[in-house]
Amino acid sequence: MYPVHENYCEFAAVAEVVQCLQQPMALADASGKVLCVNQAAAALLGDEAETFIGELWPSWLESGYQGLYRELQSAADGQYHALQHGAREVQLRRVDGALLWVKLSLSFVQGLLPLFLVGFEDLSSQKAEVQRLTALAATDYLTGLANRRTLMEVLEKQWRQCLARRHPISVVIVDVDFFKQFNDLYGHLKGDECLRQIAAALASTLPSPQCLAARFGGEEFVLLLPGFNAAMAELIARQVSEAVAAIDIAAMGLPQGALLTVSQGIACEISGQFRTADAMLLGADTALYRAKREGRNKIILSD
Ligand code: GH3
Ligand code: MG
Ligand code: MG
Repeated sequence: MYPVHENYCEFAAVAEVVQCLQQPMALADASGKVLCVNQAAAALLGDEAETFIGELWPSWLESGYQGLYRELQSAADGQYHALQHGAREVQLRRVDGALLWVKLSLSFVQGLLPLFLVGFEDLSSQKAEVQRLTALAATDYLTGLANRRTLMEVLEKQWRQCLARRHPISVVIVDVDFFKQFNDLYGHLKGDECLRQIAAALASTLPSPQCLAARFGGEEFVLLLPGFNAAMAELIARQVSEAVAAIDIAAMGLPQGALLTVSQGIACEISGQFRTADAMLLGADTALYRAKREGRNKIILSD
């Protein structure tokens, strides 16, 4: 079953161990040519173990990673030790074409016939879990919008980009009017449903994928509008008011008389009005405060 080498006994002993291992493992000669693949590695690669014998194992990697092992072809005795490495994250291409994240480790087995053990650890479920948790950590649980942390990260990044490119950037803070009263009248659960509907209304007004709608906290939301000047941001704020007015109150099981409006404060950075992104946010908050003082259900632009 194994190719016969002059040092067959030594090779066979190592191959026997490789076959016993539960961890995906291949055994290759010094040039990278595969001599043996265990069941776990064959399952990872997606075919019968025999089909991989004689292949160059670096060819299993996504092309961007193959260059890492180019030296293997030209290495000579005495250099093999230096080629070893511990777990390194690379992408493996399965026989069906699917790309898998794996940890690959390379160990040199010194003997009359130089051998390399190529170990793999499947990272796909770990990567999927990290992706799920990352998305969870970035999202507001109630509304599904970006949360405050995400907003602040994206705001800082877009602030720097817009300033560097001399593009304007605007923020709109949206606060639900008399929401405490709304909760007191109709209950917290209806209040929650209402926040979800408002979040959906905000998301529906987003004009481009670079723009972001986030829940800032409680019944406050923020729209981040990179590239938008004050007039453009005001247009979006008006659309927000209209989308909130269009929320079907009756479908939520609320009486027709239930009032649902928002007040909005806008701040725009276009030529050095604000020194920092935080200052721009504060400018929008001050404008929002004025919108509240002037009777609510209003849009005010920061001066
Ligand atoms: P104003 O027009 O001045 O904004 O009045 P308001 O009542 O909306 O403002 P206030 O800050 O007094 O109250 C905010 C309310 O929002 C109080 C709080 O119970 C409610 N709230 C905050 N987060 C949630 C939530 O997740 N779900 C629900 N149902 N209510 C929330
Ligand atoms: Mg409020
Ligand atoms: Mg508030």
